[in-house]
Amino acid sequence: MDLSTYAPRFPKPGETMIGHKYVVGFGGKGANQCVSAVRLGCKTAMVGKVGNDDNGNKTINNFKSNGVITDYMAVTDQSSTGIAAITIADTGENSIVIVPGANLLLTDVDVTALEDMIKGSKVVVCQLEVGLSATLETLKLARKHNVRCILNTAPAQSGLSNDFFVLSDILCANENEAEMMTGLPVSDVAQAEAAIDVLLGKGCQYAIITLGEKGTVFASQDNRKPTYIPATKVKAVDTTGAGDAFVGSLAFYLATRPDLTFENAIQRSSIIASISVQSPGLLGFGNIQQQLLQSAD
Ligand code: ADP
Repeated sequence: MDLSTYAPRFPKPGETMIGHKYVVGFGGKGANQCVSAVRLGCKTAMVGKVGNDDNGNKTINNFKSNGVITDYMAVTDQSSTGIAAITIADTGENSIVIVPGANLLLTDVDVTALEDMIKGSKVVVCQLEVGLSATLETLKLARKHNVRCILNTAPAQSGLSNDFFVLSDILCANENEAEMMTGLPVSDVAQAEAAIDVLLGKGCQYAIITLGEKGTVFASQDNRKPTYIPATKVKAVDTTGAGDAFVGSLAFYLATRPDLTFENAIQRSSIIASISVQSPGLLGFGNIQQQLLQSAD
């Protein structure tokens, strides 16, 4: 569950300041990515764990009302539903503290039981918001059954074991995550290109770095020359979930449009992500995506 405060700017350490408004919304990177994909029109299931509490019930009901399959969601008495405390400044930038709670209780044992579901999927998307053993097991099962797999390396972590890279078909990182994983500065396109080379050196098939309003860079093992896709110029209101809109859209395009080149799938995903930053949260996003799909095929 996302607990968002909107404020003129970020508070300094020790400072208390008055914000404009407070909004409680559904979140979690995996959840946002699922909702993005399902709103674009592909059959989508969420795997995860929530606490046996009000936030957990609301989360599962929200998935259901968005058409996300919840058969693989578990409820635990051992912890509370994960929350994110988000601050959004007038510039549209955000800062986020996550308390994962029940998410971390999702383990490799839970995932092993889902082998048939993974085997029957076209695309599997993982993030780093559940127990790492669960993510690694998912990547292993996806590779075993030749299912395309996107690892969104969020939130940023250093010291991810090599297996995560080798087992990822597509690794997608934002600037912070790319810095953390490569030890290089990543704040512009040239730096992202250098970081992509390091990420590919760790073994993933494709590496993507998203640079917010500066756009997206990617390259693959087959073609290590990076391709840069500029972002559409828009007025950002809330960049929370931009990366999730991007990843969910990419999963959608890879699952449903095998006719597209990888570059074209990324271009389309970045257009949808640029639309998502023009309204608060992920609300109001579904209709825009449907319109975009109809008008831009
Ligand atoms: P994250 O939310 O993971 O930090 P980014 O901020 O890098 O991800 O955004 C992901 C993608 O969303 C970018 O590659 C870009 O295509 C799009 N995007 C993000 N912010 C903006 C913006 N201000 N204007 C236009 N597009 C944006």
